Amino acid sequence: MPYPFEYAVVNKSDERLFKEKLPHISSSIPELFRTMSIAYRSIEQRNIYGKYGGLRRDNGFETALNLLWVAMLNDKVIGIDADITTYIDTLRALCLKWYKFGNSLDACLFFGYYFYLFNSQSRFIIRDQIKDLKFLIDNANQTTQDPSILAFISPSYSSAWYQTDDGIGDKLSNIFIKSGDLSKVGLPLPGYQITFGQTYQYDLRAPHFISAEQIEKPIIQDNKVIITCPKCKQRCRGTKFEHIEMTCPKCSQKWAQHI
Ligand SMILES: [Zn+2]
Repeated sequence: MPYPFEYAVVNKSDERLFKEKLPHISSSIPELFRTMSIAYRSIEQRNIYGKYGGLRRDNGFETALNLLWVAMLNDKVIGIDADITTYIDTLRALCLKWYKFGNSLDACLFFGYYFYLFNSQSRFIIRDQIKDLKFLIDNANQTTQDPSILAFISPSYSSAWYQTDDGIGDKLSNIFIKSGDLSKVGLPLPGYQITFGQTYQYDLRAPHFISAEQIEKPIIQDNKVIITCPKCKQRCRGTKFEHIEMTCPKCSQKWAQHI
């Protein structure tokens, strides 16, 4: 089964602009991809031989990650005080973009393994590494306002999610996370951590966390369903189908969701 983000359209002019606007990232990210794809193969080998060999720690992954963090500061896509969630999510957007330019799928799968499946461990490691690096760099808290750069790191998901018996979906994209791939958390914010812990079908378009207040459970009465417009929050009524397409009567926003 292909990964949900696998068949992406390669846009050559996008790639040129990326390299021109983000020169530091463009020169650091190939090394990160190289180490991630080796690391992914070492996980696969573990699976072949059926025993846990652990991750190779000698392949330079952590160094490459540190260098990319510095490159992200230099290209001003994050500031030095960016919180860990913003940093990992921006890194995710950059890796997804880089993949779309025709780079390694294995590298992205390792990203999924490291940052979704082992989310809490990886956050802990990253937080530690950044703490060590931070004092080496000063005056890097300014972020870019360039719209073409902001477009590269804009989220691939919305903040309007719906819940079904099978999982949680994004009203404004076709991202859908199965229940087994989610882990419910109460602190610091109630919601769901996306781990892909059951299917391992990593989707790099998805966030790592969806807060409970962004998720709507549709109200179903008789054969009708009441759901909220993802744009203007108008409550909309429709006929209940397994898959429905709605147009908001107030703002004309269209969206589709499963019930
Ligand atoms: Zn609306």
